[in-house]
Amino acid sequence: MKVQDFYNENEPIAVVTTEPFARFLDYLAPEGGCQIGSFLLLPLGKRRVLGVVWGPGEGKYERAKLRNALSVIDVPPMSYTMRKFLEGVSDYTVTPLNLILKLSTRVSQLHKPAVMQKVFHIATNHSQFKKTPKRNLLISSLIKSKKNMLTKKEIVSISGVSTAVITAAARAGLLKEELIPRDSPYPLLDPNFKPKEMNSSQSDACKLIRDFQKQAKFSAILLQGVTGSGKTEVYLDAVATALKNGEQVLVLLPEIALTSEFFRRVKDRFGAIPAEWHSGVSVAERRRVWKMVGSGGAKLVIGARSALFLPFMNLGLIIVDEEHDHSYKQEDGVIYNARDMAVLRSSIESSTVILASATPSLESWVNAKNGKYHHIYLAERFGQSSLPDVAAIDLRKESLQSNEWISKTLEKSILKCLDNKEQVLLFLNRRGYSPTTVCRACGNQISCSECDARMVEHRFIKRLMCHQCGDTKPMPEKCPSCGEIGQLSVVGPGVERLAEEVQHKFPAAVRSVLSSDLYGSAKSLKAEIQNISEGNVDIIIGTQLVAKGHNFPKLRLVGVIDVDIGLQGSDLRASERTYQLVRQVSGRAGRVDNQGKALIQTYQPEHPVVEAILKGNDEEFWKSEANQRELAAMPPFGRLVGIIVSSSNFEKAMDTANQLKKNTDALDRLSAKVYGPALAPVARIKGRHRLRFLIKSPKNLGLQEAVRNWVATISLKGDVRLVIDIDPQTFY
Ligand code: ADP
Ligand code: ZN
Repeated sequence: MKVQDFYNENEPIAVVTTEPFARFLDYLAPEGGCQIGSFLLLPLGKRRVLGVVWGPGEGKYERAKLRNALSVIDVPPMSYTMRKFLEGVSDYTVTPLNLILKLSTRVSQLHKPAVMQKVFHIATNHSQFKKTPKRNLLISSLIKSKKNMLTKKEIVSISGVSTAVITAAARAGLLKEELIPRDSPYPLLDPNFKPKEMNSSQSDACKLIRDFQKQAKFSAILLQGVTGSGKTEVYLDAVATALKNGEQVLVLLPEIALTSEFFRRVKDRFGAIPAEWHSGVSVAERRRVWKMVGSGGAKLVIGARSALFLPFMNLGLIIVDEEHDHSYKQEDGVIYNARDMAVLRSSIESSTVILASATPSLESWVNAKNGKYHHIYLAERFGQSSLPDVAAIDLRKESLQSNEWISKTLEKSILKCLDNKEQVLLFLNRRGYSPTTVCRACGNQISCSECDARMVEHRFIKRLMCHQCGDTKPMPEKCPSCGEIGQLSVVGPGVERLAEEVQHKFPAAVRSVLSSDLYGSAKSLKAEIQNISEGNVDIIIGTQLVAKGHNFPKLRLVGVIDVDIGLQGSDLRASERTYQLVRQVSGRAGRVDNQGKALIQTYQPEHPVVEAILKGNDEEFWKSEANQRELAAMPPFGRLVGIIVSSSNFEKAMDTANQLKKNTDALDRLSAKVYGPALAPVARIKGRHRLRFLIKSPKNLGLQEAVRNWVATISLKGDVRLVIDIDPQTFY
């Protein structure tokens, strides 16, 4: 089909909508015509839906039956590269294009005209006004602020004066008011505002990256460097280069809680704060980000994985920080890995993508080794600080009491730190109070009624919680199985229980438990992280939440309570994850000017992963891990696809799976092996029975197409659902 740029009124057009019917629907162009990429408001049945013009009508329907699009929405047309990107994600993830378009238009009220808002600025003759202390505060805060026009709410938040003071100041003429569109551009960032002096390995890295940026073609860079080596400063230099070239930049961070520290660094470096995009941002602000990204009024966006689907018009650089982080993989709804899709987007935009990490994923490391990515390595910490000493504590020699997890050796080190007024971090990757609640009379373990999973006691909220479906229930008095009263007891520790031991052993120390479920909002978590950074906490007890790039300047000692947990089980990435996690957590110790120390408790100090952690020889670890994967033809040397068939009715799920199994021709032709159907390790979630297939195939084949053809051979009846997980990270 020949694609033209403009369609006159009543010309047939193919439109992609956010509705799950067909890939394209045919319409007639609206009054005044439309462009390829135009966002349209469309009639669909009795509803109005959003759609994007993809090309000329397909002609599958009689022209007389086609309806006219209602209007063109007043936003810039979707760019060619954006359309190619959405198609690429759809193909890669075997997901209908409609759902991908939905991901990229998750803003409300796109079709509504711009909303106006009232803003204030200081009158030029403000010095002539009579000043009260409150007015002085108001004026000085406004002068200090980077923006010259602020809303009432913003003024209250920066100055602390009440809205009444602002209203009175405006009435008196000290403040001038103005109406501007709510969706206004973000303050300009100055690439030359305050650059840092780089050390020599940083300058080399910056120079290399600048050369790639100059080429105006696709380059992927793995920026690897030990924690604290100054990777962030290096990629901020690349951000500066892009800004100088008038390009837009996207920085992806794995954790919303990380953004506040990052915002501060951006403000210090570029003199203003960037646009922010994640689920914690208000609906109105998200709409502003979306619109400004699409019209060039936002040059730098800091966001979570879904920011990748914003309609950038000139995206010159994408940074994926902590690229190994699993949270880049979206596991429900559209299943995609934002790190990989960032590389895809960058290749379509012919731009630069930087994947940064101290402990890269094996995938990226292999891509760097085989030359697909450029590899930049920062081997030393910035400045005086050096990497922590890492040692194991052999628990076989420690005679721990039952209900005790901190060994004498670790305890001694903790006491020493407390004496020196230094911080300690105890790492245990288990949320809640205890992972298991069992009846001492009959041995029954309390499990979730909807899932095939144990309930985990969360003493903080005084309930049992299922980590699969999130359901909670009160702790029963009697055993649900045998009815005995007072016989339920807990086995094993979670962070909440460890906190009790800490309280018992170090009663004078200020404790803080950092676990994702203990904070109602991203804001309160941010506040607590700030509190810790300022040194107001002596002992931090945390889950993997603490592994991520937080900067705790007073932290001297990291104790890993149980490194063995992560090594159990048969997960393909158990070793890789444990290694990354423990390296990351230990890296938190001694970041600024003190020598840090990490102590790792284990019953198996001779385990190869534990030995690798102790040696700290990353290169050697990745080499051996890569060798093992290659021998087994596992990713990244072979490819995997997970398929989950589920239904509230076990038989129906099984029938569907058996039908699939009967006809695997499309996959056989590729020499792909189909394993299953098998009961999923978690055989039931939220009342749905689950069966799994695992497809294993050699690399670089038309695997997605084969999978698409394969699943197309069956039709899903009743509540049977089928989920396709390309490059699965989880196998439960
Ligand atoms: P990474 O991202 O590799 O963990 P950072 O970029 O956060 O490392 O740097 C670690 C610390 O060193 C930070 O406090 C940072 O401000 C500081 N730092 C890094 N590079 C420089 C530099 N060139 N000049 C001054 N401080 C720097
Ligand atoms: Zn459950």
